[in-house]
Amino acid sequence: MPKAVGIDLGTTNSVIAVMEGGKPEVIVNAEGARTTPSVVAYKGDERLVGQIARRQAALNPQATLFEVKRFIGRRWDEIREEAARSPFKVKEGPGGSVRIEVAGKDYAPEQVSAEVLRKLVNDASAKLGEKIKDVVITVPAYFDNSQREATKQAGEIAGLNVLRVINEPTAAALAYGLERKGNETVLVFDLGGGTFDVTILELGDGVFEVKSTSGDTHLGGADFDQRIVDWLAGEFQRDHTFDLRKDPQALQRLIEAAEKAKIELSSASETTISLPFITFDPETRTPQHLERTLSRAKFEELTSDLLRRVREPVQQALSDAKLSPSDINEVILVGGSTRIPAVKRIVQDIIGKTPNESVNPDEAVALGAAVQAGIIQGDSALGDIVLVDVTPLTLGVEVKGGMIAPMITRNTPVPAKKTEVYTTAENNQPGVEIVVLQGERPMAADNKSLGRFKLEGIPPMRAGQPQIEVTFDIDANGILHVTAKEKTSGKEASIRIENTTTLDKTDVEKMVQEAEQNAAADKARKEKVEKRNALDSLRIQAVQQLDEAQNADQGAKDKLKAAADAAEEAVRSDDDAKIDAAQKALEEELRSFMTANQGAAQTGAPDSGPTVNTRKDDDVIDADFKPAD
Ligand code: ADP
Ligand code: MG
Repeated sequence: MPKAVGIDLGTTNSVIAVMEGGKPEVIVNAEGARTTPSVVAYKGDERLVGQIARRQAALNPQATLFEVKRFIGRRWDEIREEAARSPFKVKEGPGGSVRIEVAGKDYAPEQVSAEVLRKLVNDASAKLGEKIKDVVITVPAYFDNSQREATKQAGEIAGLNVLRVINEPTAAALAYGLERKGNETVLVFDLGGGTFDVTILELGDGVFEVKSTSGDTHLGGADFDQRIVDWLAGEFQRDHTFDLRKDPQALQRLIEAAEKAKIELSSASETTISLPFITFDPETRTPQHLERTLSRAKFEELTSDLLRRVREPVQQALSDAKLSPSDINEVILVGGSTRIPAVKRIVQDIIGKTPNESVNPDEAVALGAAVQAGIIQGDSALGDIVLVDVTPLTLGVEVKGGMIAPMITRNTPVPAKKTEVYTTAENNQPGVEIVVLQGERPMAADNKSLGRFKLEGIPPMRAGQPQIEVTFDIDANGILHVTAKEKTSGKEASIRIENTTTLDKTDVEKMVQEAEQNAAADKARKEKVEKRNALDSLRIQAVQQLDEAQNADQGAKDKLKAAADAAEEAVRSDDDAKIDAAQKALEEELRSFMTANQGAAQTGAPDSGPTVNTRKDDDVIDADFKPAD
């Protein structure tokens, strides 16, 4: 059975891991890195993913998409403000959903995330030497239903079979707790690039039981960067009356510089931000530079409200778990932003304990996801691990007076199923509309509406007489399914909760096809480039041979020269058929030329760059033949 992998699909960085000999291991990507930036860039009809995309962001700000996880499964009205700060174009899509527009084409956030998943899996497949299909993907514990669905769909669009969606902090705890014996209560504090999660778990005897979870899906390292961006832009504006944030290229450079400064301030107490030629002053016609020194103290001042915001979810998680700080045995820090000294200080301050640094904050989540994948596949090395996770938010239905009637309250272990009986408010009411809500507020309107559906055909009855049985069923992914049944008539209706922002089946299918076509086009493009390169290197070899074998027969030299010229012409023409023909012709010419001039070639100039390996007469130069650069 091919192995299932675990994927931490992060806002900023993603990591993929697999079980190897009973232990989870990170799989390095094609560039040899353990983490892959969750960045996708579109260049013409080409897509760049990961570090290569990230590197060209400042030159291609409108088509380089990053932190797209902030938009996945969300409604436009929820992210409007964040969208305004983005160098690329984020806009309202169908049904109040979110779309990203690049060069006149709209992409759903799911599609962009699918590109990241595809790269991770392709690279890992190449490393493992087998095609990976089954994956476990992690999501912030505090992700709501539509964010989970959307993440699962991203996996489907990437052509993957998503075995399970699990919570990031739970995964981190799995990675941490795998080697621990004894009972412990741990608090996982995960502050990444865009989201913040706090989860309290009890570990012991292979049981990982989540007690409570809380967080803020709108808080992460990028917010800290943004504070520096705003400060820099504000300082600049004071002197130049020009808002750098209005220029996408300048904005992208500001964001990059801000993040770099922030990271430096995790170890240094002061840093200098230098952005030469940040813009051009149209009045004085002179280039403008930006240089500022930022101290750690100033940075902490700029971000003091963000630092305060991490307190609340920690306290909420403690009170939901009915624990006090002293009940926590270990604090596990996950996520790059926990390297900020002030963040560490706050955690220490709330819990009164030095955080445990035994897990790698960048890798723990993916490792835990790999463990979960192993559990699902029945990896015998894992023994009997039991994972009990909870639903992060209360789920309910809207009832008379615009109130929410909770069905499954937050922190209920999943999977969970609950049935309640409702009735009608009016005489002879022919149907009811069931509005499914998620959130903690008492009024329906203040919570997130996950979707609505109608149960119709209720026979005429007096108000209060029909018995409408509504069942909420949360699966192990934390994804909700709802059914409703009128008992006297037996009428039934059910929905898979499809928020208006969630892609429907046909959308997903279309995107799967598109992604596959893109992958095929990428492959074709790559093959074409390789083919051209192969011919070009062969041509270089031929030219070299001509140089080295000065004394060769003129007729033979002319023939080889002609074949090399034809190759050059073919490479330039970009015509596949021409390239194939020229490749074949040049191979033949070069082979017979070399056979005739073996000695001459070797005595020519042995050290002058790439030379053709000495070969037997029957050796053919294969298509992979490249200069030994
Ligand atoms: P995600 O899970 O959202 O992908 P990560 O856990 O990879 O995020 O964390 C990324 C965030 O961590 C980024 O905002 C990055 O700037 C920040 N970060 C990484 N290293 C450091 C550091 N040494 N000091 C401060 N912040 C850091
Ligand atoms: Mg993360």
